Amino acid sequence: MSLNQNLEKLSNACGVSGREEEVRNLMMQLMKPYADEIIVDKLENVIAIKKGKKNTPKVMLAAHMDEVGLMVKTLTKEGFLQFAKMGGIDDRILPAQKVSVLTKKGPLNGIIGSKPPHIQKEEERKKVLPYDELFIDIGAENREDANIMGVKIGDPVAFDVKYRKINKDTVIGKAFDDRAGCAAMIETLKQLGETDCTICAVGTVQEEVGLRGAATAAFGVDPDVAIALDVTVAGDVPGVREFDTSVKMGKGPTLTVSDSGLITHPKVFRWLLETAEETKIPFQLETGLMGSTDAARISLTRQGVPSGTVSIGTRYIHSPVSMLSLKDVENSAKLTTAAIQKIKKYF
Ligand SMILES: [Zn+2]
Repeated sequence: MSLNQNLEKLSNACGVSGREEEVRNLMMQLMKPYADEIIVDKLENVIAIKKGKKNTPKVMLAAHMDEVGLMVKTLTKEGFLQFAKMGGIDDRILPAQKVSVLTKKGPLNGIIGSKPPHIQKEEERKKVLPYDELFIDIGAENREDANIMGVKIGDPVAFDVKYRKINKDTVIGKAFDDRAGCAAMIETLKQLGETDCTICAVGTVQEEVGLRGAATAAFGVDPDVAIALDVTVAGDVPGVREFDTSVKMGKGPTLTVSDSGLITHPKVFRWLLETAEETKIPFQLETGLMGSTDAARISLTRQGVPSGTVSIGTRYIHSPVSMLSLKDVENSAKLTTAAIQKIKKYF
């Protein structure tokens, strides 16, 4: 299957943090043709292992399967659902979003509602409605009806957005953070072919709520070196200063020099940078961004793991719908593949 098809499937699947099952099943299916073995660890990270020769480095690739979303917190007696946030979501972009409430009985359609603006006071209209003043309307008559429809406290809620290609290589969809990284990781496995070193490609859980899955996965895998494949903020839109981020959509994968949780190991940085230069893959550099990736947690495992990040510059991440260039996903996979092929020189 093509990268575009894989990303479409991955983006349309739902995996709010801690409820990654649908994405995990898909990852297992998509990684299977390229792996010698696939295991699911106790925290439910999925690990595809491609066995290499003895006395060669073990490389861990990590892409998180979870996405930011919501969770049902209370059912009002009128049948509205109030919610908690899972991961960093901006309250400003929540009102009027279409959502899927993922109940045991199946998904339910809903809309995030708020007090209608017509009856808001002047000063109310100017302020951002905090998420605890919003609710999900599933068209239930009352609490009992919502219960009959299958809603339970703790049910995950995902944004209801379908993947679409909108221009040449440009696509929009839900959860590109980090299904784009998942797609790049699968593509890397596909392109690698025979390698000397052992590759453990990990779809991690619960990244958006504190890099949790990466912690146990890295301990179990015990890698010699690690690369997180993730997305980063593309700042090539009106109102963003070059100083805040210089990353642009479509201009190649981004190598993180440092972020709030990781200073890329100098050897890893040189490895990735020289690979990009030698193979003439376009790339961008980024430093000083708030936020972090699985690489931060992996790097602190056991006695330490040299780690780095290859990121895809994506517009509007952590919102219901984001935008990226498939070229960047493809080049992220190309860069990761080429780096693994040149690993002997560095590790
Ligand atoms: Zn991410």
